[in-house]
Formats: sequence, C-alpha cells, structure tokens
Amino acid sequence: MTTTAFLGLGAMGFPMAAHLARRASAQGGRALVWNRTAARAADHAARHGSEAVDLGAAAQADVLLTCLPTSAEVDEVLAALQPHLRPGTVWVDCTSGHPEAAARQRALLAEVGVTFLDAPVSGGTNGAQAGTLTVMVGGDEAALRRVEGELAFAGKVVHVGGSGTGFAVKAVNNALLAVNLWAAGEGLAVLGRAGVDLGAALNVINASSGRSNASENLIGQRVLSREFPATFALGLLAKDAGIAAELTATVKGSAPVLAQVAALMRGAAGVVGPEADHTAALKLIEAMNGLELR
Ligand code: NDP
Repeated sequence: MTTTAFLGLGAMGFPMAAHLARRASAQGGRALVWNRTAARAADHAARHGSEAVDLGAAAQADVLLTCLPTSAEVDEVLAALQPHLRPGTVWVDCTSGHPEAAARQRALLAEVGVTFLDAPVSGGTNGAQAGTLTVMVGGDEAALRRVEGELAFAGKVVHVGGSGTGFAVKAVNNALLAVNLWAAGEGLAVLGRAGVDLGAALNVINASSGRSNASENLIGQRVLSREFPATFALGLLAKDAGIAAELTATVKGSAPVLAQVAALMRGAAGVVGPEADHTAALKLIEAMNGLELR
C-alpha cells in the first residue's frame, strides 16, 4: 500500500492531486494533501476523498509531490519538512523549477536518504484535469521507475537525464511558448493595422506554415475572444523564460531570441500584471500598435 502526499493545491496541483486520490481509492493506498492555505486542502479532501494533513504527517509519505510557484517556495517547504523526513521517500517536484535549485535540493535530501526528482509538467490545467500531463523527469531513473505508476495525472512520462534536466527542458519549452505567442501577436498586430480581418488571417495561418500552438489554440480562444481566462499566470511564464535565459548564460550558449523573450515577458508582467493569464502579454503589443487583437 503506497502513501502519496501532494503539497501545493493550486491551479495545477488541485486537479493533479485528485487523480492521486482516485488511484489511492482504487488501489487501497492513501493520498495525503497539504496546502499553505489549509481551507483548500480541506476542500480537496471533501471533494476528492484525499486526507488533509499537516506537514509532519505529509513527510511520512512514500512519494512526496510538490507543485509550487518556483524553486524558492520548494526550498521553504523543504526546510520545514526536513526534520520529519524519512529515508526511502522519493520526492517528485512538479514545480517548473530552476536547474541550479535541483542540484542543491537533491544534495540536501540525499543527506536524509530522500531521492529528489525534478519532474515539471506540461499540458496546462486542462491536461491536469484530464490526467494527460506530460512529465519531464531529471534524476535517478531507477527511482523514477519505482514511482512512475503513482503519477496518475500523467499521460506521458519521459526521463530526460540527470538532476536538473527536467527543469531545463521545461524552461526551454515555455520559452518557446513565449516566442510563438509573442511572434503571433506581433504578426496579427501588423495585419490588423493593414486592415485585415484577424479571424480570417488566423484561419489562414493555422492552415499554413506559420502556425503554432499559440496560433491554433491560445490566440483564438483567449485573445481574439477577449476572455484571457487566468489558468497560467503571466508571472509564471516570465519566470520560466527567465530560467531559460539564465540557463543560456550558465552553459555559455548563444540564444538571443530566448534572452529577448525573457525580457519581453518580464516587461509584460510588469505592465499587465503577473496574475493575468499569460496570453495577456499581447496587451502590450496592442498598446504598442494602438489596436485590439479581436
Ligand atoms: P498557482 O499560483 O495556482 O498555485 C500555487 C500553489 O503554491 C498554491 O497551492 C499556493 O498556496 C502554493 N504556495 C505559494 N507560495 C507558497 C509558499 N511560500 N509556501 C507554500 N505554498 C505556497 O500556480 P500553478 O498551479 O498555476 O503553478 C504551479 C507550478 O506549475 C508553477 O511552477 C507553474 O509554472 C507550473 N505550471 C503551471 C501550469 C498552468 O497552466 N497553470 C502548467 C504547467 C506548469 P496558497 O493556496 O496558500 O496560495
């Protein structure tokens, strides 16, 4: 019987932990949950049959999972948990974290016999609800294989290399999301100023070589619709693009477009607000071009 503990019931963590609760109830295991704002954990327990616990109890789990905004919050939770941890636990950090933090966290946890895997996810809140997330994992592959079956929110699990590589892949993936989103926004702004109907333009682009996930899904559903549903915060995308830019410097690489998109996302978060949906970054392009993308 496996006990999991999920820490951080935010937009992603809440539905991810619901899959763990369903699996525990089918397999006879236990699914513990903890959240900084305790009412959210109580709500999770009431809705999904998980058990809301304190950090000391969560530390006793066989598999500990975290999904927090950044590696800084993971550091805080790690410090609070450390006295309670027990050898043999595998810590699966689904935060879109920093590769350098993974090295530090892995080493700290190894001292108490806990294995740390950086395991960020992609697929958004829809993927979290559907249980179809892609998990990109860095760290000990044998430990991953031991706990892989517990990742009930996953549609695909890929071991990408040693510690920190999961965070690195996630940061670059999201930097590419930012590039595609921003570039599509610029292109549509130019077409809007030229008097072209943007719905028609998007229709053509999505049947042509300029398409991307941003043009096919995000811009129609979130920007042209003017809905900007807040499922993935602009501040978090700015953080991810920033990690990709820092990684470029660490490896002494050359990636000027990634550096620029990190600065653009930071600037957009400053202007539009970090809590806005990431697609609201395009409001900055709208202001720059004196039009609305609709
Ligand atoms: P949310 O802001 O919705 O949730 C953040 C969670 O972290 C909440 O449970 C919050 O608790 C908790 N938290 C914040 N600060 C602290 C702290 N100091 N100590 C303990 N807990 C804290 O974020 P998301 O769920 O959207 O994102 C989580 C991670 O997943 C991020 O790294 C993000 O980049 C990544 N991600 C997000 C996706 C998305 O579509 N939203 C998609 C893929 C990855 P409280 O309820 O008390 O505020």
